[in-house]
Amino acid sequence: MSRYFRPDRIEDVSAALATGGCLLLAGATDHFPTRGDTPHAIIDLSRLPGLRAIERRGDHWWLPCLATWSDVIAADLPPQFAGLQAAARQVGGVQIQNRGTVVGNLCNASPAADGIPCLLALDATVVLSSGRAVPVDQFVRGPRHIDLAPMEFVLGLRLPHQPGARAGFLKLGARRYLVISMAMVALVADMQQGRIVQARIAIGACSARAQRLPALEAELCGQIPSADLVQPHHLAPLTPIDDVRASAGYRRHAALELVRRAVAGLA
Ligand SMILES: Cc1cc2nc3c(=O)[nH]c(=O)nc-3n(C[C@H](O)[C@H](O)[C@H](O)COP(=O)(O)OP(=O)(O)OC[C@H]3O[C@@H](n4cnc5c(N)ncnc54)[C@H](O)[C@@H]3O)c2cc1C
Repeated sequence: MSRYFRPDRIEDVSAALATGGCLLLAGATDHFPTRGDTPHAIIDLSRLPGLRAIERRGDHWWLPCLATWSDVIAADLPPQFAGLQAAARQVGGVQIQNRGTVVGNLCNASPAADGIPCLLALDATVVLSSGRAVPVDQFVRGPRHIDLAPMEFVLGLRLPHQPGARAGFLKLGARRYLVISMAMVALVADMQQGRIVQARIAIGACSARAQRLPALEAELCGQIPSADLVQPHHLAPLTPIDDVRASAGYRRHAALELVRRAVAGLA
């Protein structure tokens, strides 16, 4: 039988974590379907005050650890968040969106987590309760493996404000909704006079952890967006696997098509 804490102060979360063997939970939508083990104690973060509202803070946006997918959908956010909002509308169904958090999706570190490519494209920084700040590409180290010390938890995400940036998210699954992705792409791009000034493009479900495509990003600079700018060699860093959802070859083909559509969508 686990002990259950639902603290309302960050210091109490840290004190509970110090007892060791604790499981952190936010919405619990990722944890309970996947793991049956009984932790020494459960720390439910959902009562912590002031960690739900998404807001602008100077040169960045703050997305705190209790912000749900529904909060992302409802928030009045600039176009740079169009990809994250599109992903939010496709995560599970409304019940999952109401409970599941963006940070929980990140910390679960599934290769197929829909939020992680969006956070890579938004250039997110993960802010930890210890005061450490870690770029999201370093925070996710591999499947179910994140850069989190035993006494730490994620307070929230810092996302640079990019006025005028455009964004997109495309996901392919075996059906339209309530489906785990075979491949997905997120993109955030600065545009000037119809040309791409800077782009960040990230692919999920096609490697052990979601990753950006730096060679493609570099080649897109200065270009008028069009699908044929994206060629198979740009996706060479991907290492898709064969599994019950799709073959590696199909995933690679799907990822290429999704990136082409996302880039063309900037026009
Ligand atoms: C029916 C169903 C459909 C789903 N559909 C999708 C989908 O389409 N796409 C998708 O990507 N996911 C999907 N999911 C998975 C899940 O709902 C999401 O990943 C959700 O965002 C997880 O958030 P949570 O708050 O529920 O995480 P939790 O289950 O509370 O936590 C997940 C993990 O993160 C850790 N964690 C949570 N918060 C913190 C924190 N602040 N600091 C440190 N660690 C923390 C927990 O310890 C746990 O290991 C689905 C799940 C279900 C049950």
